[in-house]
Amino acid sequence: MASVLQHEVPKQVFSTTRVSRPTVLPLHFAIVGCGLGGLAAAYCLGRAGHTVTVFESASCISEVGAGIQISPNLSRLLIRWGLGPELLRASVKPQSITFRRYETGHRVGWTKWGENMDKDFGSPYCHLHRADLLDMLVKLASPYMTLFLNSRVVSVDPGIGELTLESGRRFRADVILGADGVKSMVREIVIGRPDKPIHTGDAAYRAVIPTSEMVKDPDLKPLVDHPEMTGWIGPGRHIMGYCIRGGREYNIVMLHPDRGMRGEAYDIPGSVQQMKADFAGWEPRVEKLLALISHTLIWPLFDRDPLDTWVHPSGKVALLGDACHPMLPYRAQGSAMAIEDAAVLGVLFSHITSRRQIRPLLWAYQALRYPRTTDTQLASRLNQKIFHLPDGPEQEARDISMREGMESSLREERGEISRDDLAGNANVWADRPKNRIQFLYDAEVEAERWWMSAGQRWSLGEALAFRL
Ligand SMILES: Cc1cc2nc3c(=O)[nH]c(=O)nc-3n(C[C@H](O)[C@H](O)[C@H](O)COP(=O)(O)OP(=O)(O)OC[C@H]3O[C@@H](n4cnc5c(N)ncnc54)[C@H](O)[C@@H]3O)c2cc1C
Repeated sequence: MASVLQHEVPKQVFSTTRVSRPTVLPLHFAIVGCGLGGLAAAYCLGRAGHTVTVFESASCISEVGAGIQISPNLSRLLIRWGLGPELLRASVKPQSITFRRYETGHRVGWTKWGENMDKDFGSPYCHLHRADLLDMLVKLASPYMTLFLNSRVVSVDPGIGELTLESGRRFRADVILGADGVKSMVREIVIGRPDKPIHTGDAAYRAVIPTSEMVKDPDLKPLVDHPEMTGWIGPGRHIMGYCIRGGREYNIVMLHPDRGMRGEAYDIPGSVQQMKADFAGWEPRVEKLLALISHTLIWPLFDRDPLDTWVHPSGKVALLGDACHPMLPYRAQGSAMAIEDAAVLGVLFSHITSRRQIRPLLWAYQALRYPRTTDTQLASRLNQKIFHLPDGPEQEARDISMREGMESSLREERGEISRDDLAGNANVWADRPKNRIQFLYDAEVEAERWWMSAGQRWSLGEALAFRL
């Protein structure tokens, strides 16, 4: 295994004071959508000295009642932005990730997390409630943004950088950012044609269980006493479960075929009876967990192929987050990618000194972010295939691979030096090269490094040639 030191963040490249120094050319950014990505963009651009107006169609800022996984590439940013104490207070640090056979519960994969995450990647892996993460970002962004609720954006004129609300009111900005999620309307403006998200064939039931109920059952108590990320994997479906809110709640996501749900709505109340039927015959712990669920939401899952561009040719409209790279939640990276996008935009636009740099900086943003988000989209899709294999030779080969990863992690746990990179392991969280790529990444350092090595020396001609 390559030394972690080789991958350590070059701290001299980035200092927190750099991005907090206001730009010499304040611009007006209009952000469509006040989800996790929009809020992070409001904070990063506002902190860089720009004026930010956010338009949100909902009547309040809220998140679905469910958990979210925060990997080190995201926790590093949140901690740097001053949210460390709140993050650690609100979250649970999972000690490991375990994969289990759906019908027996036998462990087929295990990788130690906990302090290994801090040691190997310099920042923790955290599980928390989405509402808690949203609250933290609202607190960060509020001083920097003017927020319009009940303000659905119905059209955007990319030529003049103007958006129109359902009410008919119009607003102009130097840059309009579409952070309007997987069903983005701004996306169609940017690429200039109709473009709908793709049904992945899967849907998610989501529920939160009070752990006070779980600890009464000796079979479920260990899931609370030894918090980890547990994945039960079976043909065409899987379940992910983990503790949140300081261990007071257990978040459970049950992925299954969407049975032709083709509606545009998500976050729909689901049938608990149907949910139990969908996982009938799964191991006793699963049955017991499902018995504790009184209501659930059902969530059809969409993603999309990578777009040709995230930036309109006018240089006045661009996309971020799920609006440009929605992904299956099977690598738990969607919000991390959205917030990394925001971090990169914040650093790049902290350097702007001339309006002629707006378009090239948006292209630089796309060029810096596109390969990483595309790889992450594809990794998430690959996990759909891996997790959902029907019983048979391919599933057996998967389980053998996962067991090899587990043996290696257990050897390390016993103090034996493991030199195995486990590249290509079926448990992607055991694959050390992939983990280094995913978790060591520092969005702000990458943006600052690009600025120092290339951006600040750009001539306009070079800038215009800098496109994907
Ligand atoms: C089951 C499930 C589990 C997941 N688990 C994880 C995880 O563990 N870790 C992780 O990192 N990611 C996870 N994700 C992904 C993550 O939730 C998303 O990637 C992330 O929320 C995207 O943020 P966003 O701001 O781009 O979009 P959204 O959060 O979708 O925000 C878009 C906002 O835009 C608003 N809006 C839309 N249209 C308009 C309009 N026309 N005008 C004004 N406002 C508008 C919406 O109301 C919304 O508030 C999961 C996703 C699912 C479905």
